[in-house]
Amino acid sequence: MVETLVLPVQASAPESEAIARAAAVLQAGGLVAFPTETVYGLGANALDAQAASSIFRAKDRPVYDPLIVHLADGEDLPIAAAQVSAVARELAACFWPGPLTLVLPRAPRIPTEVTSGGETVAVRVPAHPVAQALIRAAGVPVAAPSANRFGRISPTRAEHVLADLAGRVDVILDGGPTPVGVESTVLSLVMPVPTILRPGGISREALVAILGEVRVLEPITPETETAPAPGMALQHYAPRAPLTLFRGEPAAMLAALRDAAQAYLDAGERVGLLLADEDGATFRDLPVTVQCAGPSADVTRVAQQLFASLRALDRAGVSIILARDFGAAGLGLAIRDRLTRAAAGDVVRVA
Ligand code: AMP
Ligand code: MG
Repeated sequence: MVETLVLPVQASAPESEAIARAAAVLQAGGLVAFPTETVYGLGANALDAQAASSIFRAKDRPVYDPLIVHLADGEDLPIAAAQVSAVARELAACFWPGPLTLVLPRAPRIPTEVTSGGETVAVRVPAHPVAQALIRAAGVPVAAPSANRFGRISPTRAEHVLADLAGRVDVILDGGPTPVGVESTVLSLVMPVPTILRPGGISREALVAILGEVRVLEPITPETETAPAPGMALQHYAPRAPLTLFRGEPAAMLAALRDAAQAYLDAGERVGLLLADEDGATFRDLPVTVQCAGPSADVTRVAQQLFASLRALDRAGVSIILARDFGAAGLGLAIRDRLTRAAAGDVVRVA
């Protein structure tokens, strides 16, 4: 156990004393949680094998699940990646700083503790001013997965980090809520066709506009026996209560969700619903706990609120969560991916 120091910082213009203090912790091999534009990251010096290993211990993360290396600038890419293809350069120019992670061949300086023994490395340049300032001040690439206990919901606020990692992280930079709210898109450039391993903050449509052909790795299911890429095993990213995801045409989807809610209520369950803003009124007659994550027409807003809404349902003490789908356009695909994982494959498809 360590004493966790929470340092408040202004998100748009972080105070240099707090940044210097956190950077010194990274240089000394310690752990710093910091806001990125996606979610809070749990950072360590990516060139220090021991520091990187301590991330896995703090999160209870299995060592086979590799970390993302965060750089202050795309110019630094050769520190992390052995070969930087023309496609990688083009994507970096279009989307960095921003929520796109590229999987590339690993440069020798990146210890295999960071890549879980693999010869590829995941890299990105975060856009958040606090992340930018911290990486620059530390003067090293920063390895950081999301700052939650393994298998739990990613943190979008400093209090979420504290709830999961108090006593396990040296410093938390509190820069308020993270603007994107879901993790980065992970795009593999070491496969024959650029392949989205994890949908996230940069939409599939935006990548198709640049690349033409983009594959999306099939959503994992309980039947998938082996993970198709590192870190792709069925993980829960889950609230404590079991979650069921409902998919389909909106009216039929919501009708099925309502029937299920009623059946669970009849069985004595405490039911929590994750809905769109416009659905709330329809469910007002049921004795359920409702979290509305935003209007279904604004998936960017829903993505921002998604994880905080799931955590709020947990805090309310519900015993079962029923969630609606938000489509596959834009950030809808990332929302669907996270809810599918949270459901551990328990997805009801309504025709
Ligand atoms: P997190 O930031 O907690 O979501 O964790 C980082 C994620 O990045 C992992 O779970 C993987 O899905 C992905 N990742 C990191 N390194 C690699 C890699 N070398 N190849 C494929 N995916 C990776
Ligand atoms: Mg994570």
